[in-house]
Amino acid sequence: RQLAGDDREIRLQWQERWKGVKLSMSRRATARRTVRLQPTTPQGSEVGGTTDPPNQLSSRDGSKAVTEARKAAARILDAAHYEAQEILFSARQRADEIVQAAERMFASTASGRPHLFPASARLRSRDSLRIVLMGPPGGGKGTQHRFLTKELGVPSVHLGDLLRRNITEGTDTGIAVKRYIDQGLLIPDELLIELLRPRLAEPDAERGFLLDGLPRNLAQAELIDEILALDAKSVDVVLDIEIPREEAFKRYAGRRICTRDSSHVSHTTYAPTKRYGICDVCGGRLALRQDDSREIIGMRWEAWESSAPPIIEKYKTEGRVTLISGLGPVLDVTERAVNAIAECLD
Ligand SMILES: [Zn+2]
Repeated sequence: RQLAGDDREIRLQWQERWKGVKLSMSRRATARRTVRLQPTTPQGSEVGGTTDPPNQLSSRDGSKAVTEARKAAARILDAAHYEAQEILFSARQRADEIVQAAERMFASTASGRPHLFPASARLRSRDSLRIVLMGPPGGGKGTQHRFLTKELGVPSVHLGDLLRRNITEGTDTGIAVKRYIDQGLLIPDELLIELLRPRLAEPDAERGFLLDGLPRNLAQAELIDEILALDAKSVDVVLDIEIPREEAFKRYAGRRICTRDSSHVSHTTYAPTKRYGICDVCGGRLALRQDDSREIIGMRWEAWESSAPPIIEKYKTEGRVTLISGLGPVLDVTERAVNAIAECLD
């Protein structure tokens, strides 16, 4: 209650969000009651007494079949409801954790300390801190990316942001990339590296960076090494954050996109909007992205599983990989990451 400034804003944002969650839960409960009531309407009464069952069943068999079907439907509904509750519960737990973690980090900055963990001081004083983040989709890379950027004082270099920025600004590379995207084609490795090169040359990335979204294959990893080598630089550490597949699926359930503009992405847990269900950018309605269905997440998980090992293997033989678990409270993972990076560089 005594929070001020940013912290209070975040708290209000969450209160708003939970109001939305409660509302949707009560709506769901109403919907369930309605579904349960509907089947009790006598069959055929609405069509003026044409009661002959089309499948020639006696009326007793018919009503028995209806009862069975109704029971089965109720079981499916109950199972779905239970699963939804579970997802909500774990999302809520994780949301609370992230808010607490952000509060701790704010408090630390307010008290004049730029970082939370002792090992961060050592890393902050290094001349070179070039980090690549790896991990499965839904592994918490996005969240850790933000916390680590702040904790270690290096800028974030995110492939998605780079793509958006270049396309919006209409750079030559951006125009070339857009052509591939519009045709639904894979963007060639050379073009992606062409996006990355000028970003890494910007002054804020001189000492280091946190790279996310690249490399996705061995060729890209080698191209990144090449462009850094031109300035006598190299990737210092590859941080591999791993979580079990089921956990990743649960985390993905929170992602929302704007129905007016699909580039407006938010997340009920990681990047909540100010008003629940409403886009911060344009006020459009938010929806679950089709890509985030179980099937698509499964495909992306498998794509990651098949593409990651050779990249990790390459960095491993060069002694640059450190593997951590992405499970547990957010700041525990951040601390784990900081310690692992420091250890790998010692
Ligand atoms: Zn929008």
